Amino acid sequence: MDKNVLVMIPGPTPVVDSIRTQMGRPIQAFGDPRFVADYRALIDDLGQLFNCSGVTFPLAGTGTLAMEMAIANTTRRGDNVLIVSNGFFGDRFIDICERKGLNVDVLSAEWGDFVTPEQIDKKLSEKHYAAMTVTHVDTSTAVVAPIAEIGEVAKKYPDTVYIVDGVAATAGEYADVDGMHIDLMFTASQKAFGVCSGMFIVWAGKKALERRKTLGTIPEYYVDFDKWLPIMENTSKYFATPAVNLVWALKESVAIIKEEGLKARADRHRKNADAIAKAVESIGCTLLAKPGCRASTLSVILYPEGVDDAKFRANMLQEGVVCANSLGAYLGKSFRLGHMGNITENEIIVGLSAIERSLKACGADVKLGTAVGTYLAEMHK
Ligand SMILES: *Cc1c(COP(=O)(O)O)cnc(C)c1O
Repeated sequence: MDKNVLVMIPGPTPVVDSIRTQMGRPIQAFGDPRFVADYRALIDDLGQLFNCSGVTFPLAGTGTLAMEMAIANTTRRGDNVLIVSNGFFGDRFIDICERKGLNVDVLSAEWGDFVTPEQIDKKLSEKHYAAMTVTHVDTSTAVVAPIAEIGEVAKKYPDTVYIVDGVAATAGEYADVDGMHIDLMFTASQKAFGVCSGMFIVWAGKKALERRKTLGTIPEYYVDFDKWLPIMENTSKYFATPAVNLVWALKESVAIIKEEGLKARADRHRKNADAIAKAVESIGCTLLAKPGCRASTLSVILYPEGVDDAKFRANMLQEGVVCANSLGAYLGKSFRLGHMGNITENEIIVGLSAIERSLKACGADVKLGTAVGTYLAEMHK
């Protein structure tokens, strides 16, 4: 189980050697001028790369903590919040917001589909919302939300802070914070950035920063923008200990993304995802997400008739590949396959080959090589 298992769950994703090396470096004091400069460079690069003219916060914690940070700094008890949910992670915001004493309205899509910009526009026009949350890619359904089009709608509501959960998307799916009128976006290190889990990034645009100023003292401590702003301004200052080696790892990940180019990286993800869709369809599987709203970072793949989920995934593991179970009503009927970050064509071929063998072992009528052949043909037409 320990050796050479290819991790194809929707995060953590495979970590390339140059990033892993950064995590094994000898530690430095967080006040060491070399680390202070590295942290500075990371913050500046992340802001530029995703076009955020506000403040970028790369901090220790996971994506869920970033969700709390987003809500904590943009709303106060009693505010109305609109949650746009395309699945499990959209719904997670309901609990976070209700615990904070916010009045929550939810727009939900059927699993596999998305809430449209028109539906959102109608809802926003009905009452005043302090904030709206949208999940860029919902990891339970592999549905991608049209965040740029939703941004065009959000632009019409200057008092509503537009929050995008980019945890399973950012650095895979294309995003442009200012250009898409996003007021706050966040992600986590272990998904399309291809780093281990342990850090999140919040991009706070001007509107989100302004909102924070109107809130006075907030109940939250670690995630308070006001606690971190001086450190993001001057990285030699201390509020809470930065995850030194993960900062380096993320910095290396950003170097890889810059070299590839954000748009080229998004195109690669798209091409890969489309080829994977054709490949699994060629062996009798179907996708949960409807055409037109399929994410490029992961797929939720429905089994052909008669395949036992637990047996399939155990077989995958024997073949050296870990995939993830599905969530909600799709648990047992489908599995989730991550294909984001720095995953290579070779690794995807290994994944598809394991899927073929495992389906066959579970009684499906699969001719070995079909999915791999379809994938290769699609990738190299
Ligand atoms: C994984 C994920 C989260 C939660 O992130 P953690 O790092 O597991 O806390 C939130 N939103 C989405 C869309 C995710 O995929």
